[in-house]
Amino acid sequence: MRTAPLDPAPEAKSLPRPERELPVQATLRRLEQEFARVLDTAPETASGAALGAESAADPVYVTRPFLPPLEEFEPLLRQIWQTRILTNGGPFHRELEARLRHHLGVPQVALFNNATTALIMALRALDLTGEVITTPYSFVATSHALLWSGLTPVFVDIDPVTLNLDPARIEAAITPRTSAILPVHCYGRPCDVEAIGAIADRHGLKVIYDAAHAFGVDHGGVSVLNHGDLSVLSFHATKVFNTFEGGAIVCADPAMKDRIDKLKNFGHDGETSVPDVGLNGKMSELNAALGLVQLRHIGTALAQRRAVDAAYREGLQGIPGIRCLDFPGESAANYAYFPILVGPDYPIGRDALYDALKRDGIHPRRYFHPLISDFPMYRTLPSARREDLPVASAAADRVLCLPIYPDLDPAIVARIVRRIARP
Ligand SMILES: *Cc1c(COP(=O)(O)O)cnc(C)c1O
Repeated sequence: MRTAPLDPAPEAKSLPRPERELPVQATLRRLEQEFARVLDTAPETASGAALGAESAADPVYVTRPFLPPLEEFEPLLRQIWQTRILTNGGPFHRELEARLRHHLGVPQVALFNNATTALIMALRALDLTGEVITTPYSFVATSHALLWSGLTPVFVDIDPVTLNLDPARIEAAITPRTSAILPVHCYGRPCDVEAIGAIADRHGLKVIYDAAHAFGVDHGGVSVLNHGDLSVLSFHATKVFNTFEGGAIVCADPAMKDRIDKLKNFGHDGETSVPDVGLNGKMSELNAALGLVQLRHIGTALAQRRAVDAAYREGLQGIPGIRCLDFPGESAANYAYFPILVGPDYPIGRDALYDALKRDGIHPRRYFHPLISDFPMYRTLPSARREDLPVASAAADRVLCLPIYPDLDPAIVARIVRRIARP
């Protein structure tokens, strides 16, 4: 706010009115006008005439957050202003949980302010101790959640086809201190959930999936989120379904959902009882309302992503040294990322290609380089040795995630493909 609430607003002083407005009323009126002006730009935004239109010279990033037409959000904002329910499990929060349960086909959804908090609370909800087996090939939040929880990550190498935790290597890493497995559905490609589930059952371990990439991914006809004890989604701006910031824990059991709901509210159980060390993980009404509007458009957004994915695959096929990651046949994909592997038979190295694209205003990302196990707080762990993680190390050295988002112009996809064909 530009005017201190108790200062007279400049225009209020000079208003030729019989009864002068209270300063705070003038300030509020001005804010209301500004608000109305911002919302008035909505039709232009929706048609792409003003904001949102791309020009050929604009840099192209690996992703561009999807936003619904602003005018669809406005009535929900007005409702928040009317009810003054801003957070603490309000009506939009409850409605988004219900709609996500239905949309994703999962029994329970607990919304969070982001996936990192959700991961930390998921580990807490399962009362884990000691060591947790996880993948080095992920975003750093996966392992950070373990360190924040006082747990020791044990890195296990990945499968060369899926780039997910390799089930064949998990059992060798289990010790008497192991309490859980924390795999990642990397790029939204399902882990070998059957094999991981069988290992967990044999050894009495919990399984938490970092499903930050896996919104809307099915496996064998059901949501991949129905596997393991808990799955954690991210609704960050860069993800397939975004609420600006946000996340969720998916679980099967209503009692578990109840525990998680308490954990995300400081561990409170009623007004005067605090049995658990929770934190503040609540999603606000603003984010939940946005999520409700985003959900109306997710089908279109996924169809557009699928078209971009198909265009890349068609364009890149036959370029020597470039391999696109396949999606397992029995699964429904979400086209969250478009990773390619730059092989030794490609004329230049991965980093040289990355630099060449950047010089052309294309900004791919080397997800996931460096490996989590290479960061300073992890690299001294016995399981972090690169020699023991050959597949993850090779993937980190070769992968390049190309730009993909719903309204990515096909002409830009063609430009990227041409550049890769002639580096
Ligand atoms: C994005 C991401 C997270 C963190 O999600 P936030 O909602 O930003 O906290 C965790 N794990 C993976 C694999 C991610 O990609």
